Amino acid sequence: MLRTVPSALSGTATGLGYSHDAAVVVSIAQYIRNLGYTAIASMNDTSIVVPLAIKAGLGEYGRLGLLITKEFGPRVRLGKIYTDLPLTFDKPARFGARKFCDVCFRCATECPVKAIPNGEPSYEVHSDANIRGVNKWSIHAEKCFGFWAAQNSDCSICIRVCPYNKDYSKWWHRAARWAAGTPLRRLMHWLDVRMGYGRRLAPKDWWGKEG
Ligand code: SF4
Ligand code: SF4
Repeated sequence: MLRTVPSALSGTATGLGYSHDAAVVVSIAQYIRNLGYTAIASMNDTSIVVPLAIKAGLGEYGRLGLLITKEFGPRVRLGKIYTDLPLTFDKPARFGARKFCDVCFRCATECPVKAIPNGEPSYEVHSDANIRGVNKWSIHAEKCFGFWAAQNSDCSICIRVCPYNKDYSKWWHRAARWAAGTPLRRLMHWLDVRMGYGRRLAPKDWWGKEG
């Protein structure tokens, strides 16, 4: 569905993702409580979730201001649970996405309101919506959300066009992901654009597709 963004149809993918997210975090939190520990389920609230996800080894921070995961690219919704359950923990893991962003400006170019920076990571903030004191790509949230409001739907064009927005159950996409993490990244970026990935699918054509 995200191939159809921006559209009301693609909002279904967003809603479905958050619905699954809620069911998963609430179920796991209840399971932990049944073991006798404290567990508080949380989605996009209470603390900033992307840094935690990076710390947990789930992916890398992308220019578009979202987590880019190895398995699903930026096409994820994140949940978290605060708990005193004793746990082992993972560490940050890189697969090349952050470096790929250095040569790929596609999300910044395609964003209709230019809410995504096309330069180097910096300490620049746009409003109180950005955290301060971190050297990173910061999104202009007011421009972004203003666009959503203007069209009465959500957007996610940046997710649609991101070269990591692929179905990695296919071996050729896994091979391309590997190559994108090597010095071949500029070639892979060129190929991605050349082959037409990230183009919008009209909602009426989505309904005719299988699966
Ligand atoms: S969601 Fe749309 S408006 Fe917001 S940053 Fe992404 S492309 Fe730009
Ligand atoms: S579109 Fe390109 S620059 Fe933007 S997050 Fe994806 S890989 Fe990085």
